[in-house]
Amino acid sequence: MQTMPKVGFVSLGCPKAGSDSERILTQLRAEGYQISNSYEQSDLVVVNTCGFIDSAVQESLDAIGEALNKNGKVIVTGCLGAKKDVVTGAHPSVLAVTGPHALEEVMGHVHTHLPKPHDPYTDLVPPQGVRLTPKHYAYLKISEGCNHRCSFCIIPSMRGDLVSRPIGDVMNEAENLVNAGVSEILVISQDTSAYGVDMKFRSGFWNGRPVKTHMTALSKALGELGVWIRLHYVYPYPHVDEVIPLMAEGAILPYLDVPLQHASPRILKAMKRPASSENNLARIKAWRETCPEIAIRSTFIVGFPGETEDDFKMLLDFMEEAQLDRVGCFAYSAVDGATANALDHQVPEEIKKERLSRFMEVQERISAAKVAAKVGSLQTVLVDELTEDDDGNVIAIARTKADAPEIDGIVYLQDAEGISPGDFVDVQIVDAQGHDLIGAPPGF
Ligand code: SF4
Repeated sequence: MQTMPKVGFVSLGCPKAGSDSERILTQLRAEGYQISNSYEQSDLVVVNTCGFIDSAVQESLDAIGEALNKNGKVIVTGCLGAKKDVVTGAHPSVLAVTGPHALEEVMGHVHTHLPKPHDPYTDLVPPQGVRLTPKHYAYLKISEGCNHRCSFCIIPSMRGDLVSRPIGDVMNEAENLVNAGVSEILVISQDTSAYGVDMKFRSGFWNGRPVKTHMTALSKALGELGVWIRLHYVYPYPHVDEVIPLMAEGAILPYLDVPLQHASPRILKAMKRPASSENNLARIKAWRETCPEIAIRSTFIVGFPGETEDDFKMLLDFMEEAQLDRVGCFAYSAVDGATANALDHQVPEEIKKERLSRFMEVQERISAAKVAAKVGSLQTVLVDELTEDDDGNVIAIARTKADAPEIDGIVYLQDAEGISPGDFVDVQIVDAQGHDLIGAPPGF
């Protein structure tokens, strides 16, 4: 009997890189390769790398080194692969290096170093593909690359300009996911609000009917699938207003991940941010009027080159006014190859640190009040996993509509016997602990 060739796979980086990994894994399985979780038992190893910040570069180089030591035959792909010299400089013995979003190239190198098996039965692969996320939620990548040139970011130089996936392909993939039991789809890209710009928003076909390649049309169509739909990486352009009524109607989740990065127009301009001239406060206020339930997540950078105390205070005032639900904040740090490195007036490290802690103080207070306000409310939650407390009681770990997996808060449900991951459960929030909530059956 023919032995199936085995490929080991290491997946690092953000959900976008994870989505690339899923495509490669799906193709490997479709062609009959076995996926192995042991370096020693694999015939070769593919490492999907991240190159976003210096620590990610080091983590990727370490992972390649480990795979070389334990296996010896390594193909490198992903964001760090866009900097081939860095990879081959540290590890000259890798078999091949490709950049991100390079399914065909990676498969070509796999075929060269580990010829594909000939067994028609192994060509069978589930239509939803092979996924790295738990069975009940899935990331849906709608485009690759980005047309913006934010001065702190090197993603466009690694991934190129925006290329949207055809709407029919995106909707077929979403439908397959739902048919395979997925309860939540998380829409991702570098810039979800720009979906279809490169295709001039032309119509494609889904289930025999025309659907425009546009974020609003996509959101409407996804909303028909009857599962939770969550939008990530949306910039505050005027057309984003069109999806808020869909949230108010319950077609998609009342959740918007809008990376704003700053509030001072001067700094936003220096950052070259998309939609930097929009009045974000007015826009957020209008969104809340249309959909009071909406949860807004954002990320910010403090200590960007040229940021004065006045710019920073403007940001703090914005935070007080905007009362955002979920916030991440980073002190600016130079990324190799970013144009912001050449800007004058770099902010000293101690001032960056001090601003970061002042920012966090303000946001912690806002977040604590937001979490406390949920106590007593009724919520529908999605169960992610089960665990046990010290006494052996089953506890469910779940999320409300306002919580994306891995980045937002969670809800603990006590006495969760009979509940399974992927279930939707109605609960009453009875307490709060830090960013997390405690839930119990309604009327508790
Ligand atoms: S929008 Fe800006 S930060 Fe986001 S990927 Fe594009 S260039 Fe980078």
